[in-house]
Amino acid sequence: MPFKMLAVFYLHGMHVILLQVLRKLLKFYGQVNMKIYVIADIEGVSGVVSSAQTGGDSWLYEAARLQYSREVKAVCEAALHAGAEEVYVNDFHGNGLNLLSDALPREVMVIRGGFRPSSGYDLLDETFSGVVMLGVHARTGTYGGVIPHTYSSKLSFEIFGQPVGEFDVLALLAGEKKVPVILISGDSKALEQASTNLPSTPGVITKYSIGTEGALCMHPDRVCELLRDEMRRAIKIIDSIEPAQISGPVQLKIRVCDVLLSSRLEWIPGLKKIDDVSFEFAGKNMREIAALMYGCATMVEAKF
Ligand SMILES: [Zn+2]
Repeated sequence: MPFKMLAVFYLHGMHVILLQVLRKLLKFYGQVNMKIYVIADIEGVSGVVSSAQTGGDSWLYEAARLQYSREVKAVCEAALHAGAEEVYVNDFHGNGLNLLSDALPREVMVIRGGFRPSSGYDLLDETFSGVVMLGVHARTGTYGGVIPHTYSSKLSFEIFGQPVGEFDVLALLAGEKKVPVILISGDSKALEQASTNLPSTPGVITKYSIGTEGALCMHPDRVCELLRDEMRRAIKIIDSIEPAQISGPVQLKIRVCDVLLSSRLEWIPGLKKIDDVSFEFAGKNMREIAALMYGCATMVEAKF
């Protein structure tokens, strides 16, 4: 690595460490501004078991987005009550226009809209104290997970040979900024998968999966209560939760479910074809990996 690049890398690493030390000192003296970043998805919300509930013009979607907004509200209120000064919510599902934001506390800022530069983690930086992942779903191809997919149900991904879902990628992206995932909610299968990489993160099961389109669901009010309780607890133990970590270069494997879609990925420079349905990519960091995954999913989902 040339000296100039090494110096930039070193300085970048140093500034993150210095920022962390400074935050800890300020926190000790009661001066820190606690900021929480909530990434919200709809598939893992209480009562959602079918893709008919995740978009479109039907009453099913309207009911689902109401519960989605109630669960986001519960987390935001609890975070503010427990001492957070700022809460950002990323409306991460579909076109990013699902949240009924007038139901949220006035202090909350909402990131809305689709095709953003870095969907899922826009504006997430080292100044945040913790990330909440709300309404997560299992990875593509998960037997027994509710509406399982990883950006697309036509693609599955591995990082360093381990299967990854959206929650793994988002946790690693936050980890690159030294921000821990302090709370996660979703169906029982998704939480079982997430616990591998996030062993110390408190979790709230919103429903018990009994198939890709079926679950044993708790009362929506009960889920909101659990989210409030666990959010308060998460803020109390925030310093004991370690950020997820990975060091680059990051090895990614991509598999398409249908050979017809393979040719679309062949258009992407830097992807190495392994066989008819598999590709490899080496990314500098998780930011590069996440951008590629999101790009591949957009390509295979595009209608021509
Ligand atoms: Zn979604």
